[in-house]
Amino acid sequence: MAPSYSWHPGAFRLASRWAVPTSLFPDEILSSWLLRAALANGCDPLAFMGAIWPMQRVWTMDLDRHPKAELIDKLSDLSGATAASLKHATLHPIAQLVLSTAPPSKQSWPWILSVGSRNRRRIGRAQYCPRCLATDESPFFRLQWRFAWHSVCTRHDCQLLEACPHCSSALEPHRILVTGNGLDYCMECDRSLSREVPSQTPLPDAQRLQLATDEVLRAKQTVYLDKEISVASWFAVVKFYIDLVRRALRAQTISLEAFAPELTVTFRNDLGFVPLEKLALRQRAHLLDCAGRFMLLPFEQLVSEFSAAGLSRQAAFPSGMPDVPPLRTLAEALPDQGIRRPVTQRNPLRASHFRPRSQREVERMMRVLRRRTSADTDS
Ligand SMILES: [Zn+2]
Ligand SMILES: [Zn+2]
Repeated sequence: MAPSYSWHPGAFRLASRWAVPTSLFPDEILSSWLLRAALANGCDPLAFMGAIWPMQRVWTMDLDRHPKAELIDKLSDLSGATAASLKHATLHPIAQLVLSTAPPSKQSWPWILSVGSRNRRRIGRAQYCPRCLATDESPFFRLQWRFAWHSVCTRHDCQLLEACPHCSSALEPHRILVTGNGLDYCMECDRSLSREVPSQTPLPDAQRLQLATDEVLRAKQTVYLDKEISVASWFAVVKFYIDLVRRALRAQTISLEAFAPELTVTFRNDLGFVPLEKLALRQRAHLLDCAGRFMLLPFEQLVSEFSAAGLSRQAAFPSGMPDVPPLRTLAEALPDQGIRRPVTQRNPLRASHFRPRSQREVERMMRVLRRRTSADTDS
């Protein structure tokens, strides 16, 4: 049976010029494969890449964004993997699909988590699943752990991590030495990143939004509020809801207490203007969870809740009418700022908390409650 994959199938049975051929695993990110290839061939990654590509110190840059075509060709020639399979192990094809244009070469990329390189040190937000690493035959890092809309491992139904659970250092697998313990160990404190690491329950709507977004990328289009939209428009809609929540929290003009009680606790007063891709995983996951909740509402309920909350067209869309069709329809359905509607005692977002729920929703809530109860009992 062919190995399952979500983003690329990998490359196997390679006619390699390396002493020890190293397969590219399905969904493995390019840098992870190079690290494993270096170790398999008895080299420190620094020396390994120094021999292949002496012109540049590749480990000081984000190799997974857009490695030079000459480097890909050279790696293809040495490893036996096709250049196409290696390119698909980089973030570039996904970033291009998300933006519907070539991503910029210098600036950080929207929706892609930065590793924050400073020489060979990292201060960024790359993520990992401890249970994936624990169950891998040869631990490796996945492409999707760099996606900003990912906060969950759907395979293990657990929250991802973005730092060593013992010393909180950023992930720096490229600093591994051939004498080191392995890619599933922290390069700072040398303790396991995967074993005896408690897993956290994912936020349900963040998980649903993640799955829906992955599906949009695979289909390369989708339907939102009865309108066919492109991948780039889908991301514009997600960003709209995230920005709306952040603006609401800053201005405190709308009570999100019932709709997103965790947000006020998570952000307190330090919401600031930090880009989503640079927020801590916990904050990003809560924003995605809240955006997911908005995106699951049918159009009529969305309009009704926005309107009743006193959210005018201008307040929801301060930059003017959006050019994404479903958002434009939403904007047109919201009251014009000139028409003052009294904000009633009824807080609609709070009221939504008590609306009749479907059987599916109740069952989901019960599952979450049971998991939380058993987690409390276990701890
Ligand atoms: Zn996992
Ligand atoms: Zn550590």
